[in-house]
Amino acid sequence: MIGMIMAALAATSSPSPAPPAIRQYDVLVSAGHEGRPASCPRFPKRRCNLGAVGERQWTPVIADETARSLRASGLSVAREPADFDGFFEVKAAVFIHFDGSDRPCSTGASIGYHDSGSSAAAKLWRDMYSRYFRFTFMPDNFTDNLRDYYGFRQVHATDGALVIELGEISCPAQRQWLAVRLKPAADLIADFIRQLIAKK
Ligand SMILES: [Zn+2]
Repeated sequence: MIGMIMAALAATSSPSPAPPAIRQYDVLVSAGHEGRPASCPRFPKRRCNLGAVGERQWTPVIADETARSLRASGLSVAREPADFDGFFEVKAAVFIHFDGSDRPCSTGASIGYHDSGSSAAAKLWRDMYSRYFRFTFMPDNFTDNLRDYYGFRQVHATDGALVIELGEISCPAQRQWLAVRLKPAADLIADFIRQLIAKK
């Protein structure tokens, strides 16, 4: 016990490490809620949002496949969990989520972004995913959380940074539809990113 206290004191009194340098990649792909709640104590000012029921199981599946596809086409990818350190300079950033609601089937897919620098990216993703997704597509930034997503503060993306909500998993019909389409949805995100980056 004494040893643990001493170790804790030593940990808190050691000098804080230098802030990590800006890291450059073509793309950042973050899996929403992944790594929580274990990562939450490192970010005490953030709400430790664990996502909708089942969401944490699916976002890494999407993020892994999107990253795999992008890397296979020669792009560099920072594949991050929900909470990560430092600042990223990229061409495109996507934060993968699924929505959940206390009123099942009241929402659907949606897109969040912080400013007009990402509106063209949002339009392209909406065009691509609405051709595929057969349920409701909510207006962009339909919640404040979408516009002010914490991850936007850790990335500068020249071609766009989006929160992508792939559907409402608390809605049984959407959940069933999505459950057998995780890989194609992830590959569509990769296609979207390749098109977005190629436009510039
Ligand atoms: Zn989420």
